[in-house]
Amino acid sequence: MSGKVLLVTGGSRGIGAAICRLGSKAGYRVAVNYASNKAAAEALVAEIEAGGGEAFALKADVGSEADIMAMFGAVDRACGGLDAFVNNAGIVDVKARIDEMSAERLERMMRINVVGSFLCAREAVKRMSTRHGGKGGAIVNISSAAARLGSPGEYVDYAASKGAIDTMTVGLAREVALEGIRVNAVSPGITDTEIHASGGQPDRVARMQDMLPMKRAGTADEVASAVLYLLSDAASYITGAILNVSGGR
Ligand code: NAP
Repeated sequence: MSGKVLLVTGGSRGIGAAICRLGSKAGYRVAVNYASNKAAAEALVAEIEAGGGEAFALKADVGSEADIMAMFGAVDRACGGLDAFVNNAGIVDVKARIDEMSAERLERMMRINVVGSFLCAREAVKRMSTRHGGKGGAIVNISSAAARLGSPGEYVDYAASKGAIDTMTVGLAREVALEGIRVNAVSPGITDTEIHASGGQPDRVARMQDMLPMKRAGTADEVASAVLYLLSDAASYITGAILNVSGGR
């Protein structure tokens, strides 16, 4: 074990779980955040431990500042530091045009995907920044190709929330470049996870894959590889980058 600590929001399923698995293999002690599915989080922790790694599950809704503060406090108590942080938790909503979207839908989307990511980044910076007595670190934000494509007729609100993540990545990277922290984004294209079913489109990957340049969706592992690279010292001169992992889309 490197003794380094990695916290992944939404780390219990999909892309986040792949990041946790790969992070453990890279030697990180992994804090696996989840929102409600305790069984999935505990199964992942057990799998990592069975493989000789160290992990623990942390329930927190990134749509709640109080939950975010409690989550980072729990990592402080359990690990005494934070070396790597991945802003991965994110939601989509059911297919809708803008002229059908309610204020409640938009506020939930922005609260979880944007405000939650900003507040988590704030707490990570407070712990990593040399300005605050930290020893530096790396942050990766999970964006989406939707930020470039706009997701018309599907979920422009989600696409716009990821546009905010891209902008935050560039701004924060420059803000903390002299404080020992690198901040980058990975921008996945269509990736085979349960998020599509949670937005009411369980067949989305099957339906769209023939339209993709490689005629297939990406896997969570393919996205996780890019994240682990950006967290690693191999990426020591990379900050403010938005890395597309979208099979050419
Ligand atoms: P997923 O399979 O739906 O998994 C979502 C994970 O996030 C679960 O661990 C879930 O926990 C957690 N989560 C959901 N809401 C949360 C909240 N409010 N607070 C804390 N955790 C929360 O999603 P995914 O496809 O892996 O997506 C991960 C990230 O990649 C998201 O930011 C998504 O926008 C982005 N992305 C995905 C794709 C794609 O095609 N899959 C493409 C581009 C970008 P529970 O198990 O407790 O619900």
